[in-house]
Amino acid sequence: MKKNNDEYIIIVGCGRLGSHLASLLSKTRRSVVVIDKEQHAFHRLSDDFSGFTIEADAIEIDTLLEAKINKADVLVATTNDDNTNIMVAQIAKTIYGVPKVVARLFEPSRKIVYEELDVETISPTVLSSIAFKNIIVGSEMED
Ligand code: AMP
Repeated sequence: MKKNNDEYIIIVGCGRLGSHLASLLSKTRRSVVVIDKEQHAFHRLSDDFSGFTIEADAIEIDTLLEAKINKADVLVATTNDDNTNIMVAQIAKTIYGVPKVVARLFEPSRKIVYEELDVETISPTVLSSIAFKNIIVGSEMED
């Protein structure tokens, strides 16, 4: 059984979400590679980020190969575009058999498409609405 800190994780997108996630995971001593098409995005990584960065478009197969997708235990698609995220997630799951694939999903109604691909989703829209609701009404039970 693999130890957690042997895990190899690819994060696609190094914006507000991906950079924070990459910095957090890097602190857990996992191997992290983060891909972004904009060089300036990597400035968001924490000073102690110990992973690798690749400046390229993640839609390109060559980019994913450079990131060694065939060796990845986890791929997280965190770009700001649902179509990009699902495309990368689909490639990771169906072509390279990445065991765990998680995607950022802006449009919650598209969740079923990801489920059919065995791709887990995190929807900031849904999570935010729950957080707002909890601030407003606390843990009050619904009728
Ligand atoms: P944010 O919404 O702040 O989390 O930023 C999303 C990040 O995804 C930005 O830094 C974009 O440059 C990046 N991004 C969007 N599309 C791609 C792509 N096809 N390949 C790599 N990075 C991307």
